[in-house]
Formats: sequence, C-alpha cells, structure tokens
Amino acid sequence: MPDTAPALVWLRNDLRLEDNPALRAAADSDRPAACLYVLDDVTPGDWAMGGAQRWWLHKSLEALAAELDRIGSALILRRGDSRGVVPSVAQEVGADLVTWNRRYIGWQKEVDDDVAHALQEQEIEVRTFRGTVLFEPGEIRTGSGNIYKVFGPYWRKLREREVPEKLAKVQKLDAPAKLPSSDHLGDWNLLPTQPNWAGAFEETWEPGERGGRARWLSWLKSNATSYDEDRNFPGRDASSRQSPHLHFGETSPVVAWHDLRERIEDGDVPEDQGESWLSELAWREFHHQLLCAHPEMFDKPLDAKFERFEWDTDDDAYRAWTKGQTGYPIVDAGMRQLWQTGWMHNRVRMITGSFFVKDLLLDWRRGMAWFWDCLVDADPANNTAQWQWIAGCGADASPFFRVFNPVGQGERFDPEGAYVKRWCPELKDLPKKHVHAPWDALADVLKKAGVVLGKDYPEPIVEHAARRDEALARYKAIKT
Ligand SMILES: Cc1cc2nc3c(=O)[nH]c(=O)nc-3n(C[C@H](O)[C@H](O)[C@H](O)COP(=O)(O)OP(=O)(O)OC[C@H]3O[C@@H](n4cnc5c(N)ncnc54)[C@H](O)[C@@H]3O)c2cc1C
Repeated sequence: MPDTAPALVWLRNDLRLEDNPALRAAADSDRPAACLYVLDDVTPGDWAMGGAQRWWLHKSLEALAAELDRIGSALILRRGDSRGVVPSVAQEVGADLVTWNRRYIGWQKEVDDDVAHALQEQEIEVRTFRGTVLFEPGEIRTGSGNIYKVFGPYWRKLREREVPEKLAKVQKLDAPAKLPSSDHLGDWNLLPTQPNWAGAFEETWEPGERGGRARWLSWLKSNATSYDEDRNFPGRDASSRQSPHLHFGETSPVVAWHDLRERIEDGDVPEDQGESWLSELAWREFHHQLLCAHPEMFDKPLDAKFERFEWDTDDDAYRAWTKGQTGYPIVDAGMRQLWQTGWMHNRVRMITGSFFVKDLLLDWRRGMAWFWDCLVDADPANNTAQWQWIAGCGADASPFFRVFNPVGQGERFDPEGAYVKRWCPELKDLPKKHVHAPWDALADVLKKAGVVLGKDYPEPIVEHAARRDEALARYKAIKT
C-alpha cells in the first residue's frame, strides 16, 4: 500500500462487514483503514446502554474484532465522550478521512454533528451514509410534506419505493502502519459477574454478524412460510429473533429485505407471509422517523393530555411485575422470559406493557426504563414508540380505553398454555383450562397440580376488572 493517509471508520450500531456503506467507502478509498468503537456513556445521558445490551455489545465486539483481524484491519476500542474521543483517535491514526453510518435519534444526531464539525476544523474529511435503515427518516412523507403518524399509509408509501441495493461484503482492509492503542474489552466490565444473570443468554444467542446470519437463514428456511399465521403465538416461537441483530447492525435491514423478497419471488415463501414480516420491519422504520422528528418522546407523551394522567407509584406492584410475580401467568411468563433471556415475544410485550399501564396504573416511563435495562434489543426508537403506543399516548396508538384482559389474551394466544408452562414451571401440571387463571381452579385441581396459591405461585396482585374501571375513570378525567 502506498504511503497514503489512512481512513478511520467510526462504527456504532452497524457492527458488520456486509452492506456496510461506511466500511465499504473506506475500503474503496484505496487507503489503509482502521475501525473505531467508542463506549460512550456520557452523551446518551439517561439512555446509556442497559445491562442486557452491554452483555450483547461485549460479545458482538469480540466477534467483530476477530472478523476485522481476519480481513487485515483492526478494531480500536476507546471509552469516553465521542465528541472528544473520535477527533483525538483520528489524529492519532493520522487519518484524512473519517466515515460513519448516520444515526438519527435525539442526542445521537447532535453528537454526530459535533464530531463532524470538530473533524472538519482539523481539516479531516467526513463522509456519512445511510446504513442502519431502509430509508432515511423523513424521506417518506405525506402529500403535505409531513412525516407519517399513522402506520398504514406510511407502509403503503414505503412499498411504492425501491429498497436500495445491498453492498458487497468487505473482504480486505489493510490496517494503517501505525495503530494507536486500544482499550482491552474485558476492562470495560460489560459482562455481569456477581451475580451472573446472563447465564441463559449464552444458550439463547450468538451475537455478531455470523450468529445473526445463521439465525436469519434458519428462520427463512423453517418459519418464514407461516410467519403471519404464527407470529402472535408466543408458544410457537415463530418470529425471526433478528431484533438485537438489527439493533446492533449485525444484520442489515436492506439485506434482510432482499433475501426475503427473493424467497417470495422464487415461490419459497408465500407472498402474504413474507410481506407480513416486511411490514414489521417497516414498523422499525416508522418508529425511527417518528423519534427523529419527535425526540421529546423519550420522556414526554406525544399526546400532551397524558401529562395530566394520575399514575400510581406503588413500588411493591412495580417489583412484582419486574420479577414475574403478579399472579397473572401470561404476564409473569413474559417478565421471566425477559429477565432470563433478554428478550420477550412481541405479543407478550404488549400484554405485559398494557398490564403495567392499565392494571397497575404505573407510569409508562418506568416500564420503558425496565425494558431498556433488560432487553438485548433495547432500541431508543422502538422501545419509546411502543411504550407510548401501549399507554395510548403515542402515534397510531392503541386507544387507552382498549384494555387488554391478561386472561383472555393468554387463552387466545397461548391456548395450550405451553408458553406459560415453560416460563412458570410451577404451573406445568395445571390443566390448560386453568393455566391462565389458576385462582379459578377448584381446590382439588390445584392440589393435584401441586400448586398452593400464595406459596408456590402468587395470588393476583390486583383484580383486573376493578383496575380496568379505575384506569378508564382516570382516563376520563384527562379526556377533556
Ligand atoms: C412495549 C414494547 C417494547 C418494545 N421494545 C422494543 C425494542 O426496544 N427494540 C425492538 O427492536 N423492538 C421492540 N419492540 C417491538 C417488538 O416487540 C420486537 O421488535 C420484536 O418482538 C422482536 O422480535 P423478532 O425480531 O423476533 O420480531 P419479528 O416478528 O421477526 O420482526 C422482524 C423485525 O421487525 C421489527 N419489528 C417487529 N415488530 C416491531 C414493532 N412492533 N415495532 C418496531 N419494530 C418491529 C424488529 O426489528 C424485528 O426484529 C417492543 C414492543 C413493545 C410492545
């Protein structure tokens, strides 16, 4: 390689070699190039990564470092405020070009603008790309030029567009002759130790581009054909589980889109089943454009009247919910799945979220913060928009007066009780008729199943019908 100044690729939620425009640009620039990841707990403020994401990040960076090493380059790890770290590493490397894939949400945009400005002051060229979404937030607009707040028309408009072509995987990248020092990943203490609550994470996930790809191909082969029929049933485990891979950018949404469209064109996946998955991917886009336009949604309801809603502050109820001890089996199963694996099925996220807001009458922001800490896919756009959706105060939100009945939801979406029995094994011998409402079972049925309510499994901590009435009364008070 001639004596050219190197490029620096600043990686964030795009930890992959395939279809990575920022990495591709560095590779195509005929410069040696190094990659940088900054663990920045400063600029996100309250939204620094939660515990589950940190576990994922450790594993993902390990995988990425090995891949970059294999193709000839290197990953530099640094910790601190990105606004200082990136310009300083660029100087240490002697880079005359820094590339990254754009971020869009709240603080992220501001930080990226500041870093770009600082680099330009140092006369270092900055090139940025769309690399984490199908379309740039704000690119798809209504006829009157606004962003969409209702998903249906957004999806139809998106569907009229051509999704960009994917970029080839970077196969070779030469490291600069002089590499600055890197932190040791282990020193970042991203993995839990005492206690190690992530034991089951290891069995559930393989973070990194390769793990994401393997899971994706297996889902395409086995589950894509009946996705729409199965997706709402948590016991069937039929969704793709790509959310953490998409969140960390190990899976490219563009690649996923084209892979699935190809299977549909080839007749391997029925059109309606495949399009149903693509529309879920579009919800991710929808939420990104929403949070990009309304960063205040992190802590303020989009529908301002909800500022006046009277929330309870019952810490015992909050704790019971976080621990999966509410006495409502489908809620408890979901909360335990979340704690043990860092992920929860979408239908159950809706049920547990609704229970939090409309049965426990707790502020959606507290529930959102718990999810933020526990989810491996915790995403500023999706998590925030979905919690507001649940609470009835977001965009295209489920109306507040539509209150999920946790027993009815369980019976409908987990009819055999398989999901509940998996995560609440103390209920495994209950007949399916009673598994979603054990308190309705006769004493001898409970005895036969080895369940003593209040001892082996909690009595319900609230009475759903009464709390529903209370929730609606409080809603009525803010309606006018
Ligand atoms: C209260 C609540 C909080 C949530 N928090 C998050 C979060 O922090 N991060 C996150 O990625 N998703 C979140 N979701 C959305 C959804 O539950 C997950 O994306 C989905 O369960 C991930 O599983 P999967 O990859 O198997 O999904 P699949 O059904 O296979 O869907 C494919 C992809 O589409 C996207 N997607 C699917 N459903 C949604 C949705 N409703 N909104 C936006 N994108 C969607 C995801 O990227 C997902 O990986 C939340 C939902 C609720 C109700």
